[in-house]
Amino acid sequence: ENYCKAEEWFDSALSRLESVNNKFYAIDVLVNIARLQFGKNIEKSNKYFEKAIQYAEKINARKKLSEVYRIVSEHYEILGDYKVSLKYFKKHFHVNEELRTLNIGNKLELLNIQVEHIEEKEKFDKMKKLLKFEIENQKNELENIRRTNKNLEKKAYEDELTSIPNRRYINCYLNKKWEKHLSFHETIAFFIIDIDNFKKYNDYWGHAQGDECLKEVVNCIKKIQTKRKDFIGRYGGEEFVYYAESINYDQALELGNLIGREVKKLNLEYMDGNKKSVVTISLGGALGKLSDFVNIINMIETADKELYKAKNNGRNRTNLKSISKKIHMDEKRIMVLKQ
Ligand code: GH3
Ligand code: MG
Ligand code: MG
Repeated sequence: ENYCKAEEWFDSALSRLESVNNKFYAIDVLVNIARLQFGKNIEKSNKYFEKAIQYAEKINARKKLSEVYRIVSEHYEILGDYKVSLKYFKKHFHVNEELRTLNIGNKLELLNIQVEHIEEKEKFDKMKKLLKFEIENQKNELENIRRTNKNLEKKAYEDELTSIPNRRYINCYLNKKWEKHLSFHETIAFFIIDIDNFKKYNDYWGHAQGDECLKEVVNCIKKIQTKRKDFIGRYGGEEFVYYAESINYDQALELGNLIGREVKKLNLEYMDGNKKSVVTISLGGALGKLSDFVNIINMIETADKELYKAKNNGRNRTNLKSISKKIHMDEKRIMVLKQ
């Protein structure tokens, strides 16, 4: 555990390796130094990791590169920076996948060459069988890799607690809708849903029970969403978004009220001081054709303002604003004038 001495040896090894331009072994030394620095100086540690990655990329040492990505991912995990950790884990996974695919390719090529050189019929048949078996195995392996990769991709867009789309996915979804359906002439409704007094529920039951409450509320809304084929996502904390197409004002208002009623029916009780209460939600909605809104942010802000009103008017209610084309045109005109 004489880390100072270890550091000295590593530094000396590194300068010797660099003097003979041996990047391959320098990568190992750099990783070791980065690990030594990890507990002391994160910034310095990161610099060594970065250098190790650069070297591995430069000399195309794929196996080492994959290993360094994995170590860096684990370190960020220890630091609690899960986003960066996931980024490096994905890199590690992709390089690994590359390597495995390459291996499979090489193996198949080898087998092919062998088959070509076998003249005797008997041996050839046996080899053919083996080859078939091997191909089948490799196919399965590739399929497994693909599945794991897909799961990983899915996880990045899914809310961990409730398994519905997370904010990242919501943003992608709405942006895509905007790009594709700007000329779409059907009316849409966009709601922001916020649980009322959720802090009090948490204070009364504790955070773990609060998590269970979030799941129950999501499952309840999901039933309505699935039936209607709408979209929901977790915007953050105790806030969700709900997006419905082909809907008019009365239907959207009724939909908002229905969601509110169903959540209340869950009868999730808590004490608000001496008063017995049940969990309710407030909804703020924006209604219009997508082309009626200035942009997606404008749609979200409109719903958010309505949510604010619902909260101020006593909670447990839906406020819905319809955007007419006229307002939109006026806004555009103002924008042009301002320019
Ligand atoms: P309002 O009716 O004005 O929305 O009141 P509120 O208490 O719901 O709103 P506030 O923003 O004051 O508090 C939100 C609470 O939601 C505080 C926070 O601890 C809790 N919360 C956010 N995310 C989670 C979560 O993932 N799990 C749990 N259990 N609680 C969460
Ligand atoms: Mg909130
Ligand atoms: Mg709330």
